Amino acid sequence: MSVPTAVADQSLCAPLGVLGSDVTVPLVTGGEVVYAALDYAASAPALQRVWDDVAAYAPYYGSVHRGAGYLSQLSTDLFENARRTVSEFLGCRADDQVVFTRSTTDSLNLLAAALPADCQVFVFETEHHASLLPWRDARVSFLDAPRTPGEAVATLERALADRDPYGPALVCVTGASNVTGELWPVRELAAAAHAHGARIVLDAAQLAPHHPVSVQELDVDWVAFSGHKLYAPFGSGVLAGRSDWLRAAQPYLAGGGASRKVARREDGGVDVEWHESAARHEAGSPNVIGAYSIASACKALTEAGFDTLVARERRLIATVREGLAEVPEVRVLSLFGDDAPRVGVISFVVEGWNSSHFAAALSAEYGIGVRDGLFCAHPLVRTLLGGTPQTQGECGAPEAAPGEKSLNAIRVSFGAGT
Ligand code: PLP
Repeated sequence: MSVPTAVADQSLCAPLGVLGSDVTVPLVTGGEVVYAALDYAASAPALQRVWDDVAAYAPYYGSVHRGAGYLSQLSTDLFENARRTVSEFLGCRADDQVVFTRSTTDSLNLLAAALPADCQVFVFETEHHASLLPWRDARVSFLDAPRTPGEAVATLERALADRDPYGPALVCVTGASNVTGELWPVRELAAAAHAHGARIVLDAAQLAPHHPVSVQELDVDWVAFSGHKLYAPFGSGVLAGRSDWLRAAQPYLAGGGASRKVARREDGGVDVEWHESAARHEAGSPNVIGAYSIASACKALTEAGFDTLVARERRLIATVREGLAEVPEVRVLSLFGDDAPRVGVISFVVEGWNSSHFAAALSAEYGIGVRDGLFCAHPLVRTLLGGTPQTQGECGAPEAAPGEKSLNAIRVSFGAGT
């Protein structure tokens, strides 16, 4: 495999010339600078509407939950309104809590820290590492990769039937795969979980940007998602759902904002009364811009209408898949089969090419930014590729020797949100 021409010959590249960065991009037809990101599953570009909302808020920026001043009250109001907007966006139940976190990873780690004693956790091996790994302190059952949605439900049913029926249990499942884009049968899995007295958390990191997610309609106990995949900027996420486990748990972080009353005891120690609301798990000054941006993105998606967004994305998916089908060397990765409903996330390998080199060539020659690697889902990619992927660089692109069989994949991902 030769090194892409534009990488080898820097005269074919031009500096992007923004923000003082030296990064160069290729000159393609007619010497034009080209760059396109087809990597929405990693982070989707924030909507202009969201940037505009943030800019409109900037002059009124003030501390939250702490100040008597006008700006502080305004910021607190915007922060709490953001919580209500997210609650509506997710169709939460009246007594559900919406906790602002840093990301999906953070949300699932928060839930893992809030599990009742002796909780058993059931998770498919096909999950993103953010769903697979946070349950270290619980008794975890890893379920084999199913080959159909029906098999997923049957596998879960079998595992739950064998569990200790008296202890608490949690099922963690992804709504849409970050590798194949395939939709999982969330409603059916939730019904199976509840039939066996277990609860279920939905990792909606890839689902929420593409499809409406309703806690009540899907009948899930919690939902987690990230702002930066839902057309908001980096650094904020959500865990929303049942309040009882969250209220009973020790605060995720200890500190101001989470505590209602702190007093010295006579024996020299300190007594703390923690809040019972979402604030219990939001110690420290919260990420108001993050929460506000998520709410802005939720409103923008709702106003655009998911029916319209889903229809447009279906057309994009069909176009990409038809294009890929014309290249005989391309093999699209799929767990549930070609006809399975999916979001705009498509991974593939190209026969005879190392995936990392192929992705580098797409960027260098055509200015198309895609993702290559294992996508933080090693067991799933291993199943799909039928081998042992190299694991150097967990989520990124492992190096392969020239001519070596490609053991990682290429992913294009997009959405109808921009
Ligand atoms: N779950 C899924 C399905 C994902 O695709 C990702 C990120 O790619 C995550 C969880 C983790 O999201 P974050 O990195 O924002 O915590």
